[in-house]
This record gives sequence, structure tokens and C-alpha cells, in this order.
Amino acid sequence: MSSISRVLVIGGGIGGLTAAIALGRKGFSVDVIERDPDWSVYGVGIIQQANVVRAVAELGILDDYVGAGFPFSDIEIYIPSGQRVARFPTPKLTEAYPANVGIGRRALQKVLGDRAVLSGANIRLGVSATRLDDDGTGVDVTLSDGTTGRWDIVVGADGLYSETRKMIFVDSPDPKFVGQSVWRYNFPRPADMDALQIYEGPKGIGLVPLSNELMYLFVTTPEPGNPRYPREGLAAAMRDKLAGSAPAINALADQIVDDDAVVYKPLEMLFLQGDWHKGRIVLLGDAIHATTPHLGQGAGMAIEDSLVLAEELGRADDPETAFTAYRNRRFERCRYIVEASLAICDAQVNGEPVDQSAATRGMFEVVAQPI
Ligand SMILES: Cc1cc2nc3c(=O)[nH]c(=O)nc-3n(C[C@H](O)[C@H](O)[C@H](O)COP(=O)(O)OP(=O)(O)OC[C@H]3O[C@@H](n4cnc5c(N)ncnc54)[C@H](O)[C@@H]3O)c2cc1C
Repeated sequence: MSSISRVLVIGGGIGGLTAAIALGRKGFSVDVIERDPDWSVYGVGIIQQANVVRAVAELGILDDYVGAGFPFSDIEIYIPSGQRVARFPTPKLTEAYPANVGIGRRALQKVLGDRAVLSGANIRLGVSATRLDDDGTGVDVTLSDGTTGRWDIVVGADGLYSETRKMIFVDSPDPKFVGQSVWRYNFPRPADMDALQIYEGPKGIGLVPLSNELMYLFVTTPEPGNPRYPREGLAAAMRDKLAGSAPAINALADQIVDDDAVVYKPLEMLFLQGDWHKGRIVLLGDAIHATTPHLGQGAGMAIEDSLVLAEELGRADDPETAFTAYRNRRFERCRYIVEASLAICDAQVNGEPVDQSAATRGMFEVVAQPI
């Protein structure tokens, strides 16, 4: 039986909260610290595919999650003229539910945050860790509010720019800009818009249903040199990026008028080839494998990490054994997602054709495997 009982999770995002839920279900006592005092999340959404729906079911929150999002089965492919050339179902792994869920990031955060608290997690906002001292039997942590505490293990789920990663691996690589950015904007969802819609062409354009009321539009664009776009004028800039698209997309572009509602994000990636833990401190999610969103799997990988980490901690006598087993189970799958996503990105940046259907099929073969 494990001697680990008290866990500190650094970061209250998708990875940190799912870790808190998964660890709480295994009987660990969990504290979560989240740096952002407002716990704010930007207002568009994400796609979660069959493996993620399965993982969410395993976390025991599927009904709340599906209720907060928009379950759907099909993908539609459009050619640049706007003609729909295919509609096909994607395979599901959780029998009673459709294969995919589109969900707003805020809605997801609420489902995960509520359940983490119900699972017993103590969540403190506006707090980060300034010092971690691992003496081999526990970790003494100094927090940014001046308090200190001791935990059996620490989980760094603090995202792409993880300070935990930098504290335990001072020479770890920095995130890398990949030459592309994504522009996103929410719209009311028409009743007949009930599938993920992908528009083929030189830019990656798509529409994602998020709820009964909402959908969002994304466009992925090459951005050599990673230019800065001031907030004022973002809506006009996004309209420009969509100029010359299919008629349905042009009609939506005309409605992009609110600079504050445009979510612009330069795309970055990072993959930690070496260890994912040091002593009693372990990393998960974007802190170790931040992928570009071309396969829609980044958050899914963080959620799966949480389940595997909790499972291994639940059966190991010591953290090292659990952390090593966790990395062994996760490494190849996460590496595949990061590299296959980047391959799509690179092809788009270089103006090469991308067979999105083949890439999606290949991805599904990997993620359909048990975690
Ligand atoms: C444009 C774009 C689109 C995407 N679309 C999808 C998609 O459709 N499907 C999908 O599955 N994934 C998608 N992703 C990926 C997904 O957003 C990430 O993989 C996921 O958010 C990673 O979760 P995380 O918890 O590891 O990190 P984060 O979500 O970054 O959470 C980290 C948390 O830690 C907090 N924090 C940071 N530093 C500290 C600190 N020092 N102390 C305390 N707290 C700290 C942060 O405030 C944050 O709350 C997309 C990503 C991008 C960029």
C-alpha cells in the first residue's frame, strides 16, 4: 500500500483539475494552487474526441460534462468553394455517448472545478510555489503568499510555461513558436449545425459546435516572425485573414466586429524527451507535452495523464516507481500526438497538401488504444 497521502497540485487548469479529481477518487488528500486570482479562462472552446470522452467517463463526470457541452458524431468536409463533399461518423469508444464533445472552456472549467471540490480538493487561488525542497521523504513548499507547507508529492500541472518544470529541470527546453497562429470567434449555433465542419484549403478553417446556443469559428494562419497584433483592430485583422473563403465563412466573417471577442493565439510546442519527474515532483499536461491543436488532442492528453498518474500512485509503494511507470505508459502516445500535429502544421506553413482525413484516422488508431 502506498505511503503517499498528501498531494500538492500546482495549476488549476484542465490537467490540474482532472488530476485533483482522479487523485481524490483514489483517496489522496489534494491541495491545488492556482496562480490566477480570478481563475479566468478565455471564452472559446475545444473539441474532445472519443478517447477523451472515454477518459472523462473514467473520471466519473461524463453526464455533467456532456450536459455542459455539445455531443456530436459526425465530421463534415467542405471544399474551398463551400460545397460539402463528405459527412461521416467518427468511431466512438463509450457506447452510450456520441464520439465527440465540443465544449466551451469556461463550461469545462466549471464542471472540473466543481467536481474537484466535491472530490475533496482544497483549491487556493492567487497562489503559486516559489520554492520546492525535496528531502527524499517529502517536499517542503514555500508559497507566494508567504506560507509554507509539506506534501508527500508535488504535481506540476502549470502549463506550457511551467515554473515547476524550470525549478526541477533548469536546462529544460523553452516552448517553440511553430510559425502559425489561430484566430477564434464565437457565434450563435444554427440548429442544423451539428457536426465538426472542416474547410479544406491553404488555411485551416473550421466550425465547432459548443452548446445548444454556441459554436466557434477558427482559422489557422501562417505568421512568420510571430507578429504582435494590438487588441484594437483584432476583429478587422481576423476578417482579413478570412477574406476569400467559402460563402458561408465569408458571411460569418462579416459578423466579426468585437475586438475583445477575438481570441488570437500564436501556436507553440514543447516535448520533454527526458525524465518527467525529479524525486517527489512530477509534471503533467502541457508542462511536458504541449502540442499544436491540429489533431485536437492537447487537453485530452492532459486528462489521460491524470488518470494514469493517479492509477500508478494508487498501486505503488513509492513515488519513483509510480512516476516511472506513469511516464512509460504515456511517453509514446504523447510524443506521437505532438509530432503528428506538428507535421500537419509544418505542411500548412510550407504550403504542402495535408490529408486531414488520413491524419485523423492515424491518430484515432493510436488514441483508441487503452491508456
Ligand atoms: C489554439 C489552441 C486550441 C486548442 N484546442 C484544443 C482542442 O480542441 N482539444 C484539446 O484537447 N486541446 C486543445 N488545445 C490544447 C489544450 O488547451 C491544452 O493542452 C490544455 O489546456 C493543457 O492543460 P494544462 O492543464 O496542462 O495547462 P493549462 O491549461 O495551461 O493550465 C495551467 C494552469 O496553471 C496555472 N499556472 C500557471 N503557472 C502557475 C504557477 N506557477 N503556479 C500556479 N498556477 C499556475 C495557469 O493559470 C493555468 O490555470 C488547444 C490549445 C490551443 C493553444
